Amino acid sequence: MRAVVYRGVNDLRLETVPVPRIGANELLVKVAVCGVCPTDIKKIQYGTVPPPRIFGHETAGTIVKIGVGSSRIRTPHSALRNFKLGDRVALHHHVPCLKCHFCRHASFAQCETYKRTGITAGFEPAGGGYAEYVRVMDFVLPGVVKIPARNAFEEGAMLEPVNTVLKAVKRLNLLRGDNVLVAGQGPIGLKFTKILQLRGINVLATDLLESRLKLAKQFGARRACLASQLSTLNPQLDSAIIAVPSDDAVTQALHLVRGGGQILLFAHTKRAASLSLSARRTGGEGRGEVGTFNMDLSSICLDEKDLIGSYSSDFTLQAEVARLVFSRRLDVRPLITHRFPLEKTSAAIEMAVHPTPGSLKILVHADVA
Ligand SMILES: [Zn+2]
Ligand SMILES: [Zn+2]
Repeated sequence: MRAVVYRGVNDLRLETVPVPRIGANELLVKVAVCGVCPTDIKKIQYGTVPPPRIFGHETAGTIVKIGVGSSRIRTPHSALRNFKLGDRVALHHHVPCLKCHFCRHASFAQCETYKRTGITAGFEPAGGGYAEYVRVMDFVLPGVVKIPARNAFEEGAMLEPVNTVLKAVKRLNLLRGDNVLVAGQGPIGLKFTKILQLRGINVLATDLLESRLKLAKQFGARRACLASQLSTLNPQLDSAIIAVPSDDAVTQALHLVRGGGQILLFAHTKRAASLSLSARRTGGEGRGEVGTFNMDLSSICLDEKDLIGSYSSDFTLQAEVARLVFSRRLDVRPLITHRFPLEKTSAAIEMAVHPTPGSLKILVHADVA
């Protein structure tokens, strides 16, 4: 089969590799669509994991083989029995053990089982969606969802990113009518905007691109402005979601969020990046001045502002995520702007690295020759 193999920093090659073999209680899925995700891009650009690997974890496709005949009957087996050949499915590559110390604290993303990737097209499991077929291991089956007949594979491929957004929203203590900043209106920020609006939240959306502010309004933002105009607006915020890897946005949000509010970091996924010490002051005395910015820790202690983070998905939300997307209450279709065939995966990633005013979610179609 054809697959796009990561061979080193910024080195992706279309190669012929064997169709993965599956074991008992596993699925072989013919990939239809796989989304391009910033977390994979970072691994490819910075070489944070050793090659060779086949990336791509926002995958939807068709079950073409079911591995049966295991003598050991484990929990996932019952989930497996719900699937049959020809089912169209949305995959989920991380499922926690639910038993360990982290899982008992509901910190699923820190669980060792969760950190194992349960879907592969060959080599060290890394998602495998940039290939024609993937092997789905038994422990991730509880996260696999069937795609209703009226929905497209593309909608199925969006469940994983929507899950990460819903998980983050659930970390916030929000009440209907609250004012929440969503900094960054890319494909992730727009999902935040819509999900918050569905929950009765007044979203203030910011971005660097005018075109995205218009989209933010379409996705339910009450107000939208350029990031540079935010301090002039000086809004009262109950919470802020930082969906761009901008330190300025964090320091600004720390000023603007009311006492007892929350600032959630969603895009600060690069290790060893520390809060910039030379940032433009965005509030209070000396506003607008570039100089040393010292984070005032009393804003955390005295003002009880919570600086929190959220990473990756929570498979226990997968049924809710599926309802949200497949009912089209969160219609993900307008987010998809570009489609590339498998052999053009590098170009798809290149475009995601350098977004244009017209680009949002980019998908790779393995089923188009
Ligand atoms: Zn992703
Ligand atoms: Zn665990």
